[in-house]
Amino acid sequence: MSDTYAVVVATGNAHKLSEIEAILGASPAMAGARFLALGELGDFEDPEETGETFTENALIKARAALDETGLAMAVADDSGLVVDALDGAPGIYSARWAGDHGNDAANNEKMLREMDGVSDDERTARFHSSVVLVTRDEDGEEVLVGEGDCEGRIAHDLRGNNGFGYDPLFELADIPGKRMAELEPEEKNAISHRRRALDDLVRKLR
Ligand code: IMP
Repeated sequence: MSDTYAVVVATGNAHKLSEIEAILGASPAMAGARFLALGELGDFEDPEETGETFTENALIKARAALDETGLAMAVADDSGLVVDALDGAPGIYSARWAGDHGNDAANNEKMLREMDGVSDDERTARFHSSVVLVTRDEDGEEVLVGEGDCEGRIAHDLRGNNGFGYDPLFELADIPGKRMAELEPEEKNAISHRRRALDDLVRKLR
């Protein structure tokens, strides 16, 4: 038996790969794991994210990565912004809310429009992340799920140049007056929904 084993990470985002590698790789339960981005293993089409929850969509990505690579272990995440005044929208549709996938400027414009007239008290929101670790062996499949939130509210304008997505609109509950897009990457990584979801997953690893 070899000392190391491969874990495919179903993301095209190099930053997510290194964050996942640093946090999960530090767990004694993952000793010997080598984390490989799906894109390093081949040119695969993204699966359709047909789930109704963040966790279901993360599972779709992890299972597709296992099917495509034939490996035994995969990690995937799915995240987005949940706004109370919009009944949880954009939620799992965060990336494609304004139409095109990943058009941050259009998504933020739409958010400002949708939230026009909503009072400060009612602008509460959170970033949510679900991270899944799926392991397959001859007995079947084991699924572990980690979840994390980062609380805040939707501001009335855009501020800050860091981060991505809805970060310029997101005022942090823990640092009043500060937008997510005003944090340095290491500051964001310490408190982000993804960080909290990965920490939650690590707690569940045996
Ligand atoms: P993904 O699942 O991490 O690819 O995120 C889906 C979408 O949710 C992104 O395209 C963004 O619109 C939004 N989102 C997720 N995480 C963040 C974040 O940390 N900051 C801002 N927007 C985010």
